[in-house]
Amino acid sequence: MSGSDKADRRERILEAAVQQGLLDSEAAVLAGFIDLDGVNETVTSLRDAFPDSLRVRHAFAAKANCLVPVLEELRHSGMGCEAASAGELAQALEAGFAPEQIVFDSPAKTRAELVQALSLGIAVNADSFQELSRLDEILAARGSGSRIGLRINPQVGAGSITAMSTATATSKFGVPLEDGDNRQRLIQAYRDRPWLTWVHTHVGSQGCPLELIAQGIAKAVAFAEEVNDHLGRRQVTGIDIGGGLPVNFDSDASTPGFDTYVARLREHAPALFSGEYEIVTEFGRSVLAKNGFTAAYVEYTKTVGGRPIAITHAGAQVATRTVFAPDAWPLRVEAHDPRGRAKSSRPVRQDIAGPCCFAGDLLARDRMLPLLDAGDIVVLPDTGAYYFSTPFHYNSLPEPAVHGARIDDDGRVAFRLLRPAQAVHPVPAPRARPDRASTPGRPERTTTRRKQVQSS
Ligand SMILES: *Cc1c(COP(=O)(O)O)cnc(C)c1O
Repeated sequence: MSGSDKADRRERILEAAVQQGLLDSEAAVLAGFIDLDGVNETVTSLRDAFPDSLRVRHAFAAKANCLVPVLEELRHSGMGCEAASAGELAQALEAGFAPEQIVFDSPAKTRAELVQALSLGIAVNADSFQELSRLDEILAARGSGSRIGLRINPQVGAGSITAMSTATATSKFGVPLEDGDNRQRLIQAYRDRPWLTWVHTHVGSQGCPLELIAQGIAKAVAFAEEVNDHLGRRQVTGIDIGGGLPVNFDSDASTPGFDTYVARLREHAPALFSGEYEIVTEFGRSVLAKNGFTAAYVEYTKTVGGRPIAITHAGAQVATRTVFAPDAWPLRVEAHDPRGRAKSSRPVRQDIAGPCCFAGDLLARDRMLPLLDAGDIVVLPDTGAYYFSTPFHYNSLPEPAVHGARIDDDGRVAFRLLRPAQAVHPVPAPRARPDRASTPGRPERTTTRRKQVQSS
């Protein structure tokens, strides 16, 4: 799908959502949308990027979009699932993934979580020497069919967003390969544990250049070869190379693509393509981000200090990273009229704000856009991963509905509800309750509450 196709489809979905009442200036002021055909195309491009001769399982990183119906769609498209918490593990199972399609990664797995994963046959990547000892104890008491790996930190350094970089010298993730005598300890750990047959690494998420990711994976592959050489047997049979392909938030172009990523890996880690290792990937953002968008009505506009500001219904509750770390996570903003069509008037500088009660709740500052009016709709492209799927409950703002969309050959849009909007339960209107009101010393609750409000 080309970039202009993507923009076209977004507008088509938006207009259909307004027509069908999924967006409504009174009843549905904010919603998330996922282009399900786009997701399928992306998964196909991921699958096609790796040679058919290799045994590769693509496990979607559930944290990028953990809605169970989304996980179901991904399962139907042939993906597995990477879960990084007990909650994500439950969501993966609910979405129907078979245990052997699931990988459980977390730096803080409890004993009970490990027992559950091992008894179901879910693949586990241990994160530390302590976790390996815990696995020893659990496995001494029961066998397990799980594939078990160890996450190593190749310590290749950080990308442009420190908080997203997991292969720095001091990262909290995995066993650091280059510290002290860790290499020797690691080889001994594999020697002592014939069930330890995988090596796992994940260099980082958004902001890590392909070069850095490929270098980190190359170190993990070289480490696997080193273990097998030392042990004189091919004990390590699989390498889980993590995710982290960065997403382009500047335009509708999906660059870099999975094919570019694989080409870079081939240069740095040819042994990965020898056919001797099974491979697991764990992409999240690159599968979903560009196939989703957020749409929100502009409720009011004003001019402050000479600058126009649009107050919309999308803010920190759905664009948390963008609001709190705007330089690391800039998003495009598009201006649409109340029917969903792109506005084409002359761009002017304006701020686009959210509904939250703090001054920094801004989606964009000083952004050149056709002047927004009350009743218009703003669209945030590229928000299919890590945005509306995991909202922040600030100000008790409700979770918005999420709709999946498919466009048929005649251009008709069919929606599937992926998450209902969270209901806001209003306080019931005060009613006369003679039985209670007459009880001495026990004032009626609604009365008390009204008094508190008045006195504050
Ligand atoms: C977050 C994470 C991923 C997914 O990262 P993306 O940038 O979304 O592709 C994969 N593996 C692990 C271990 C992670 O923590």
